[in-house]
Amino acid sequence: MLNRRHFLATSVAAAVGMATASLALADGKGLVGISMPTKSSTRWISDGESMVKEFKAIGYDTDLQYAEDDIPNQLAQIENLVTKGAKVLIIAAIDGSTLSDILQKAHDKGVKVISYDRLITKTGNVDFYTTFDNFGVGVLQANSLVAGLKERFPSVKPWNVELFGGSPDDTNAGYFYNGAMSVLQPLIDSKAINIVSGQMGMEKVGTLRWDGAVAQARMDNLLSKSYTKDKVHGVLSPYDGLSRGIISSLKGVGYTAGKDFPIVTGQDAEVPSVKAMMAGEQYSTVFKDTRVLAKTTATMVDTVMQGKDPVINDTKTYNNGVKVVPSNLLIPVAVGKADIQKLLVDSGYIAADKLK
Ligand code: BGC
Repeated sequence: MLNRRHFLATSVAAAVGMATASLALADGKGLVGISMPTKSSTRWISDGESMVKEFKAIGYDTDLQYAEDDIPNQLAQIENLVTKGAKVLIIAAIDGSTLSDILQKAHDKGVKVISYDRLITKTGNVDFYTTFDNFGVGVLQANSLVAGLKERFPSVKPWNVELFGGSPDDTNAGYFYNGAMSVLQPLIDSKAINIVSGQMGMEKVGTLRWDGAVAQARMDNLLSKSYTKDKVHGVLSPYDGLSRGIISSLKGVGYTAGKDFPIVTGQDAEVPSVKAMMAGEQYSTVFKDTRVLAKTTATMVDTVMQGKDPVINDTKTYNNGVKVVPSNLLIPVAVGKADIQKLLVDSGYIAADKLK
């Protein structure tokens, strides 16, 4: 009898426990599907980790996927997230123009779509955009290139410079390039800067999939064709991964770190590139705090899910071909060698021991 009562009591407790567990799930705010482009760059790993943390902290379940720069893979992952019942999709697209069909399906199911860092184009089914001031990133890169040229090559005229762009299917690449050219074009016009190869414009300087090996091969080519007599003084690079390829190419033909090394810019404050800055190879990077972008995005989603209006600070810039996507733009920061400790280490973005 006693045993039976004990058995009943434990069964009831177990049943109550189970009910509580499923109640907790039902009480959750729903599933957020996160689709990131690739793990080959540490910034996207940091974006993903920070978003999972931020969404969990405010009561959402998350499903984080990386597509390894393969477009069909990203489409299949997003389709799967919709099938799993995601209420919200956060997408950093590989090619922003490829998502129209799947986003139509998502829209038909009432799923909210946030374009993350990179603009999703050719569809009306994107609700908001969270990113950094992308034109501003290009301005920072060009300003730092010019500051570096003045500092390292004060008496040279003209400065010999080559230009690199990001992946032409990522709208950010165009904004970075245009921002940079807003600073560089007047200097090219006044002959302070000479683009020795003559290669200008995104169709000539773009680097498909932001691939460092492609940038390295192009730099090898530029050096062997256009720099048989002249030295190159500066290279505009929009991303640390490309900068590393460019720097390998420069070192391959005998440039050595130090006072004559060309000024090479970058973006994302990736650890190997910050080390290259410390070694006097890369001149600068642009730091975009992915932790802040993730938090901003999570707050935006939560606000929208409560039926309220999220914070938007730009309603003009990001026309995706179908609509101007309301955006919340964060501020990028230029980082030189002297800023590494304060901006990257003291802020906790990079652990000090990773730079040893
Ligand atoms: C991002 C950059 C990044 C690049 C390559 C761009 O869309 O805005 O931060 O360097 O993609 O991953």
